[in-house]
Amino acid sequence: MNSVQNLIAQDRKLLWHPYSAIGADLPIFPVKSAQGVRIKLLDGRELIDGMSSWWSAIHGYNHPSINQSLSEQLQSMAHVMFGGLTHQPAVDLATKLIEITPASVQTVFFADSGSVAVEVAIKMAIQYWYAKQQPEKNKLLTIRYGYHGDTFGAMSVTDPVNGMHSLFSDILSQQFFADAPKCDFSQSCTDQDIESLLSQLEKNHHSIAAIILEPIVQGAGGMRFYSPEYLRRVKELCDHFNVLLILDEIATGFGRTGKMFACEHEDVTPDMLVLGKGLTGGYLPLSATITTQEVYDAFLGDYEEFKTFFHGHSYAGNPVSCAASLGNLEAFENYNTLHELQDKVQFLEDELKEFGGLKHVGNVRNKGAMVGIELVQDKETKEPYAPELKMGWKVADHAMKDGVLLRPLGNVVVLMPPVGIPMEDLKKLVHVTYSSIKKATEDS
Ligand SMILES: *Cc1c(COP(=O)(O)O)cnc(C)c1O
Repeated sequence: MNSVQNLIAQDRKLLWHPYSAIGADLPIFPVKSAQGVRIKLLDGRELIDGMSSWWSAIHGYNHPSINQSLSEQLQSMAHVMFGGLTHQPAVDLATKLIEITPASVQTVFFADSGSVAVEVAIKMAIQYWYAKQQPEKNKLLTIRYGYHGDTFGAMSVTDPVNGMHSLFSDILSQQFFADAPKCDFSQSCTDQDIESLLSQLEKNHHSIAAIILEPIVQGAGGMRFYSPEYLRRVKELCDHFNVLLILDEIATGFGRTGKMFACEHEDVTPDMLVLGKGLTGGYLPLSATITTQEVYDAFLGDYEEFKTFFHGHSYAGNPVSCAASLGNLEAFENYNTLHELQDKVQFLEDELKEFGGLKHVGNVRNKGAMVGIELVQDKETKEPYAPELKMGWKVADHAMKDGVLLRPLGNVVVLMPPVGIPMEDLKKLVHVTYSSIKKATEDS
């Protein structure tokens, strides 16, 4: 056995992988290193990364700004607990995050994964109303097709059917679900789009602590974009019914939709903003729940009246993660990332029109550097491919042969390249995706 086969054999024996069937004999690819937008495999091949390592590697790999910030931090300390201690990287990062996020949010709670930052937001929202002497407001309201993570609180607000967690539905906290809006990003939001959410609020607002939403686009639920106007109307309803608004920007933050944060498309200001994924530019685990002063102030008190927020993790506020995140933000400035992105977004827009002409593409959804291409068995009736055909994966297999790494969501082929991808690489990514869809859906 050569070293590549050996590593694979060892992996098969020892390791669980996220969202991977055991025994299905899916291929697994040992990686040697990663540089820019390229992942170098141990067998010598190079792949252009169309996934940004689960949507996180905003500037690509081995980035000078992030590397430098990290290695400087390592000289002084890798970690100290955040209980009763603080440090410059955490304060600097909080300062920066407050600067770049909507003006409504002012205070930062650090955790280490997106799911946990969602848990934190849920717990804060419930405890907020407890402090306001409305303890009956302890449920969440959300819309179908949402995804907020894999831990129990996060699963409870993730789509119960579409969200891969239906096995657990009996033991999850029961939350309120409304229908997702049908208005596309470019359409206006009609009364009909908001009706389901409105009626849930009318019926249940006395027991609702907060609404949680992914702004502009439901990512893992299948790249479902919706009108920013919907978001604004949700915000108005939150104000009217006295319900907090939690915006989950774990997928959309850090330039993904063409603006730094997706809520900027309609200037909607949340009570809590949740960040993860791209927060460290794909380097290290870090997430943040950022709240208004109003939410923060509800917790003021000296360990009395249940005001203390009893939540924290061993690696909370990790200084190396904070340094990586500071390097990530520096890269945005040093490389003018958002400005440079605009031409690439235009290129994508133009090229993606071609995809609509493919025989088995039902729908192309995109904004910024975030794309979902929906494959259908029948273009007329929009009949989807049966899941067991694994058509999304067939496209990914073809792309892999041509040097591009993709990871679909069911029948939706996803493009989430690093926001800082050079134009030449973006061209290759798009062209290989096009030919891979054609090969997978037409040539068999
Ligand atoms: C990925 C994701 C999460 C979960 O983050 P993890 O770091 O994987 O726990 C939550 N919400 C959204 C919108 C996401 O895309």
